[in-house]
Amino acid sequence: MKHTRLPFLLLSLLGASAILLAQTPQDAPYKDPKMPVEKRVEDLLRRMTPREKALMLSGAGWMETQPNARLGIPAIKMADGPMGVRNWAGPSAITNAPATPPVMTTAFPAGTGMAASWDVELVQREGRAIAQEVKALGRNMILAPTVNINRQPLWGRNFEGYGEDPYLTARMGVAYIKGVQSEKVIPSVKHFAANNQEFERHRIDEKIDARTLHEIYLPAFKAAVQEAGVWAVMNAYNKINGQYCAENPFLLSETLQKRWGFKGFVISDWGSTYSTAATVAAGMNLEMPGGEPMRTWLAKPETQKDGNGAGWLTQEKVLAAVAAGQLKQEAVDDSVRRMLRVMFSAGLFDAAGAAGGEVDTAEQRAVARRAATESMVLLKNEAGALPLGAPKIRSVAVIGPSAAIARTGGGGSSLVRPKYSITALDGIKEAAGAQVQIAYALGAAMQGEDAGNETPPARARLRKEAVELARKSDAAIVVVGYSSKLESEGFDRPSMDLPAGQDELIEAVAAANKNTIVVIVAGSPVTMTKWIGSVPAVVAAWYGGQEAGHAIGDLLFGAQNPSGKLPVTFPKQLSDSPAYGHYPGENLHVAYEEGIYVGYRGFDKRNVEPLFPFGHGLSYTKFEYSGLKITPAKVAAGKQVEVTIEVRNSGSRAGAEIVQLYVHDVKSSVDRPLKELKGFERVTLNPGEARNVSFILDKSALSFFSTAKDDWVAEPGAFEVWIGASSRDIRLKGAFDLAP
Ligand code: BGC
Repeated sequence: MKHTRLPFLLLSLLGASAILLAQTPQDAPYKDPKMPVEKRVEDLLRRMTPREKALMLSGAGWMETQPNARLGIPAIKMADGPMGVRNWAGPSAITNAPATPPVMTTAFPAGTGMAASWDVELVQREGRAIAQEVKALGRNMILAPTVNINRQPLWGRNFEGYGEDPYLTARMGVAYIKGVQSEKVIPSVKHFAANNQEFERHRIDEKIDARTLHEIYLPAFKAAVQEAGVWAVMNAYNKINGQYCAENPFLLSETLQKRWGFKGFVISDWGSTYSTAATVAAGMNLEMPGGEPMRTWLAKPETQKDGNGAGWLTQEKVLAAVAAGQLKQEAVDDSVRRMLRVMFSAGLFDAAGAAGGEVDTAEQRAVARRAATESMVLLKNEAGALPLGAPKIRSVAVIGPSAAIARTGGGGSSLVRPKYSITALDGIKEAAGAQVQIAYALGAAMQGEDAGNETPPARARLRKEAVELARKSDAAIVVVGYSSKLESEGFDRPSMDLPAGQDELIEAVAAANKNTIVVIVAGSPVTMTKWIGSVPAVVAAWYGGQEAGHAIGDLLFGAQNPSGKLPVTFPKQLSDSPAYGHYPGENLHVAYEEGIYVGYRGFDKRNVEPLFPFGHGLSYTKFEYSGLKITPAKVAAGKQVEVTIEVRNSGSRAGAEIVQLYVHDVKSSVDRPLKELKGFERVTLNPGEARNVSFILDKSALSFFSTAKDDWVAEPGAFEVWIGASSRDIRLKGAFDLAP
């Protein structure tokens, strides 16, 4: 008895901290970079006290997690994305330090622009470039990419996402994540799930059926987990089917963890938590923000008014929930385990993990420029209006509220402050060359930007100046659209119309000059009915990042051949949009009644003619499609189908075509969309050049989500493959049979 008690007494004398220290020798397995990650995680986990574990479940501040000096656990240091590393002047921008000087990073095109490139390799390079900047700033996590679906045109954050189609969105998201993780930076794919409106984003309860979730709103997250092995997922603010996303067992434990096998951690959106035990138990692992910055922010009336919830996963609350038996210690352990796993994988514990990174390199600038160039979509080009240039065009009037101001991104947490940005006017001057004279007129002030110029007489005067300039020029370019104050996180657009005065400006200029080209700088579709018939050419330029001006100039003057295609349908009018009438909901409830019929699926279903269909985009050259081959003609269940076609550049200049593959299920036991995008390929061809393009279709390309089976089902029978230059320009059709 004496013998067994002695060591215990001695240990008590040494005191608790000494014991803990004694348990963490320098050669502890978790400190050894050569040990497998899982071994390091378990070793460290068993050395942590319940208090230390509970502390890790909430942030230390606005953008950092809690470090642990005793065990040498570093803080995860975050930065906002996705179109670059967000930075702004003020506290907590980059670190928790109050007087952090603003830093400047590379601004890439916003999500809809990146998606319009349909260039997976480019998006991966963008992800890598952004991750290098994250590291250069001493951070190790980027809150990106955004893969929420553009359900309806008014969502204030449509520009952040990759459009309306789950397949395209998934491809873009996977590429971005692979790029980020290749630099050992932690991405956080967001917002899980169905964050499709800003209106009452903290309170809205979305009624969405399981099939619609699995087919439309979840595929990009699933691909992020299963194809990119994403390290972190950020939950959305909204409720789905009655439960907040942060405490939603269907989303977090059933789907993310069990169905998809997610091994990383879930981070809350800033102020999206409303409970302690239910949140941790559901599988939400890290609450942000935390610490004093969270308390100060939460105490503000605006924060409360918006409906933010925070401060639920503090150390005291987590410990109390465990002590009261409301929360199992294993659930807390699981959260810590998931965070540690990612931190070890990203090299946060090891010297090499923090190495490298630069800001504003030639490579980053080049990626930004190529991305801006590939993002441009030539929507309309009649009578050879574009490209412009001598000898036909010797003078050009550049007009509009977005001509001389570079609008690099939409508003909110994604807005990047670049070192420089090229305006459309600058880019046009550069591309036009000495042979063409360029003159500028504002034409109309951007709504809300210049009160003195927004009165009716001032508007009339500005318009008149622009019209006079247009009249004496060979062509006019009107650069219109939204600003980061009018299209932003935090609120939805009130309508699809261009901001005040812009339609009138286009109409007036078009009446004065028949060579009027409209360039739209916006993240979402805009109404064009008033003037679309009176202008020969229209370009969707999105928010193109810091190099947008060069891209616009190069496209308009023909230095670059446009290749972008729409990642969203442009409706003629808002009421044509499939979610119209089912948004923004009533009494904090919104029912996704259009179901799976989002975007082109809805336009097809109701036979509505869009203004510009999904996948549409023109080129200065022509492409011909031929030779569709599908093998085998009858495929066994679980086997793949190979589809091959030939694309030829039959025009007179080099260009890139985005070939799209849609699957049409001929007969099905459930209602299915007329066609669904299941493959695409970007092919660059010289004049006269032809190339074979092939696609592999597997079970996932043929399946729908069966609620009866609670699983994906590919029903035997006939399927058609439609190959198109857009969703409404189908060039080739073929068929095959799926054997039972
Ligand atoms: C946004 C997130 C962002 C976070 C941190 C939230 O309001 O919804 O996308 O990452 O703030 O800035």
